[in-house]
Amino acid sequence: TAKHSSPGQCRYYRPEMNVRGSELLALETDLHRALEREEFVLYYQPQLDVTTGQITAVEALIRWQHPNRGLVSPRDFIPLLEQTGLIEEVGKWGLNTACRQAKAWHSQGYPIRMAVNCSARQFQQHFLDIVHQILQKQSLDPAYLELEVTESVVMQDTQSATYILQRLKEMGVTLAIDDFGTGYSSLAYLKRFPIHSLKIDCSFVRDVTKNEEDAAIAETILLLGNSLGLEVVAEGVETEAQMRFFQDRHCHRIQGYWIGRPMPAKDLFPLITGRNNP
Ligand code: C2E
Ligand code: MG
Ligand code: MG
Ligand code: MG
Repeated sequence: TAKHSSPGQCRYYRPEMNVRGSELLALETDLHRALEREEFVLYYQPQLDVTTGQITAVEALIRWQHPNRGLVSPRDFIPLLEQTGLIEEVGKWGLNTACRQAKAWHSQGYPIRMAVNCSARQFQQHFLDIVHQILQKQSLDPAYLELEVTESVVMQDTQSATYILQRLKEMGVTLAIDDFGTGYSSLAYLKRFPIHSLKIDCSFVRDVTKNEEDAAIAETILLLGNSLGLEVVAEGVETEAQMRFFQDRHCHRIQGYWIGRPMPAKDLFPLITGRNNP
């Protein structure tokens, strides 16, 4: 159950969903064909802007529609994509798909910000060209692309990460630290890296209304973000009480099942239009 979930992982996890052993091999073979067979799909999870009460941003979350297994969780195949190097190609596909979707919503009158996750293997100099090309191709205003990286991604090779983050910032892309507070990092990097937002990890959110330590951590992240001029996003908000906790403390954006689950673009559209009439 949720009690056993590790930091950075807020899914209620069933152990039998974990993939191991010979199954890995089978999955890996399938993964090689998944892209050309168009088995990947992006779901979008809404983020509520607390000051306006509107859905102003979404996070793109990849799903794999396996022909026999059904919908496979990214927690089961992202590590495999990374190990095999396939993440570069799939990541590029995801970035392009997400940017095209954002552009489509913009063209319909809804200026939605699109958050896209980025793994360590993607975060190289070559990535700068990919981002640039995709933004051009989709003619998307870079300010509406928010790249999410975890602390471990930026702490792995801080010199190279600083360079890449700086170039992305110059491009006009916004940057978020995902799963904030769960990685091994030094707070000094917040000063050095050109970051726009912090996402409070769902492991601190889950018991925020019941556990004093979690509440203290969440409040500290909010204070830290506010004093550094960063936007703070709360992840994994599942109840009204949790939502109120973050609203009362002026958290900028709220994401979680209480606002909406990750869903296909066509299902999300009414949520966008219902809340923001152009
Ligand atoms: P993440 O970026 O931290 O995404 C948040 C995860 O929390 C998502 O899991 C989301 O479905 C889940 N979540 C959102 N709201 C709630 C809630 O209220 N309660 C609970 N219990 N969970 C909630 P998901 O979609 O399974 O993705 C898992 C992770 O896989 C992501 O964590 C991200 O690290 C990675 N991932 C997903 N899509 C991509 C992608 O396109 N590229 C890369 N590189 N990584 C991805
Ligand atoms: Mg994560
Ligand atoms: Mg994320
Ligand atoms: Mg997260």
